[in-house]
Order: sequence, then C-alpha cells, then structure tokens
Amino acid sequence: MSTTIEKPDTLKKSDTVENPESVEELNTVENNVIEQPNADQSEVPPLTVVPSDLEESVDSDLVEEVDVDALHERYIPEAKPKAQLSQAALERQEILDFFSPDRLAWKNVDWIVATWMIAMHIGAVAAFFFFSWQAVAVAVLLHWLTCSIGICMTYHRSLSHRSLNLKWPTKVIGTFFGVIAGEGGPLRWTATHRVHHGQSDQEGDPHSPLDDAWWSHLWWMMLKHPKRKDDLLFKHYVPDLAKDKTLVFFEKTFPLWLWGTGIAFLVFGGWEMLLWAFCFRTVVAYHSTWLVNSATHLWGYRNYETTDESRNLWWVAIAAYGEGWHNNHHAHPRLARAGHKKWELDPTWWTISFLRLIGQATDVDDRIPEASK
Ligand SMILES: [Zn+2]
Ligand SMILES: [Zn+2]
Repeated sequence: MSTTIEKPDTLKKSDTVENPESVEELNTVENNVIEQPNADQSEVPPLTVVPSDLEESVDSDLVEEVDVDALHERYIPEAKPKAQLSQAALERQEILDFFSPDRLAWKNVDWIVATWMIAMHIGAVAAFFFFSWQAVAVAVLLHWLTCSIGICMTYHRSLSHRSLNLKWPTKVIGTFFGVIAGEGGPLRWTATHRVHHGQSDQEGDPHSPLDDAWWSHLWWMMLKHPKRKDDLLFKHYVPDLAKDKTLVFFEKTFPLWLWGTGIAFLVFGGWEMLLWAFCFRTVVAYHSTWLVNSATHLWGYRNYETTDESRNLWWVAIAAYGEGWHNNHHAHPRLARAGHKKWELDPTWWTISFLRLIGQATDVDDRIPEASK
C-alpha cells in the first residue's frame, strides 16, 4: 500500500494551481453552451449541453434540467465555513471526502471486492496449468468485447461523457459487456469517473497517483461503499443516467450477470474456459483499465496544457483500446475520439465509426481540434 512508483515530476496536489476565475466561468452556462477552461479550446466550437437524441428510457424533462457537461468538468469546492455552505455543497463535499485515501483502514475495507480480486488473480495464474487454444481464443474475443465495447465505448465515451448516443440493441449489448467486465454497475462506474474528471489530481479525485501510484491503480477500489455515499453520488453526478431504466436494471443486477457468466463458462466449457475466458481475461482487462488511472497520470507526453497530470502513453493506448491518449481526453472529454494525432491509433473509435455507419451510433462528436490534425 505504501509502495510509491517514481514519477517523472514531483507535482503534489498542494502545488496545483487553482484558478477560481475559470471555475466561475465554468459554472456559468449561457445559451446552452459551456466553455472547457482546462485546455485551449480555441479551435473547438462550443459544445451543446444536451444530446439532441436521447434514449426513450431517459426522462427527457429531467435531462433538460441537467447540465451534462458540467457533471464531468473541473469542480473546486467553495472555501467557506461549513455553516455557510448550501446543502448541495455539503453533500458534494461528503462525496469527495469518501474518496480520500485516509479512509482506507481495516474497518472500511470492502471484503467482497478484496476477496473477488484475490480470487480472480489466483484464477488467472492457475489458467496456465489448464491451457487450451480454444479457451485462449474466447478470452481474447471477450477481452475486446468487455474492455473496448463495454467499458471504453459504452461506460466511458457514451454514458460518462455523452460523446455518442448508442441505439437499441447496441446500448443494451454494450452495457451488458460493461457489466461482465466486472468493474461494477454502469451508474457507479460513470459517477465515479465524472468525479475523477471534476477533481482530477486534486482533493476528492477517487484515484490520483499523486496520492500514491498503487492507490490509483487498485487500492482505491477496496473502500467499502456505504449506501448513503452511492445515493449522493448518483444524485449529484449521474442525475441524467439514474432515470434510465436499462441502466438502473443493470446497476441493481450486475452481480448476477457477472456470476452467471462465470458459472456458464464452468458448466459449458470446463475449468480451462472458466480460468481463461473468465479469470485471466478479466484480470488482464482490469489492469488495462487501471493503467489509465495510474500510468497515464504519471508517464507520457502532453499535447495539451491541462490543470491535471494527464498524459498520452502509447502502450496503455494499445492495452486499453485507445484510452491511453489520456491527456487528449482530459483536455477534450466530450470528444468521441481519444487519438487526436494521425499516429494516435484508437481502436475504440474504429468501432464507433462502424456503428455510426450502420445507424447504431448517433450524435457522435467526431471533432478533433484543428491544431492536432
Ligand atoms: Zn484521468
Ligand atoms: Zn473520461
């Protein structure tokens, strides 16, 4: 837990320059457009707040009230005495306090998550004693389906950032593959990710390597989730998604789908299929995703000046289907493409392009900043 990986520069949270003036700007949404103050946006035209074509299952009245972009933008808590804070500000502070590394103590450990992680890693190592090419092939296919289609495209770019709208049945299929990636239900995942964008490398960031590299990679997930924290998290960070019946259904039932696929692999494919297509595949996908939280806030190059430590790292981009171009993403979180330069290959974007061609992806924000082309 205390092991710290050396990082290229030693910026600490306390050194990060806050810019309250731009926060003021951020909180002022005029004419249904929003500025993105943490990057040079000069070449990117203003972004509309609400996607024009929302799924039927979303309560459209509620979504119109919600400034979706502001939910994943920089948020700096008001520096006022507690007594003077509004109820909303107090609740938001409570959420940020929840993610503090200081809370990680034995009494706060989520033992279900901890046991699950240990078991999956043991299973991944055991897979080498039950080798089968067929099981490896299924594992590779499922790695792409869960990691790229489920997490990168559906949970991240579509749900968290509204970079594209997925039509039925692709939305349900994509959410299902996100669920069986084993990274939690769609609401908690997207809400936590929006907190990350709001606080990245500041107090309240759920997984900043400025706290500790291993904390950002995996220890942060060991915190128990009290119901009140999830309620506040959903209320403040995913009010648009919490009304979506499909997502609420998967949020409530995700352990059943996860366990169900594991049991199905064992029953129909035997131990080698369980160990490769379930344990090994899931563990590799875990670390692919987790490297985006840890390595791409530590190492790599920056195309944009942002107020966080996000970086572009080619080997994480390969491991995580394009998500390693993380500085591009933090600078322009609303854009559906993570790779902005020609050589910044983005396999998840290739799938999005195909889905747009066949009419399953709409409202795709396919812009890239002029200066990056
Ligand atoms: Zn990040
Ligand atoms: Zn993001």
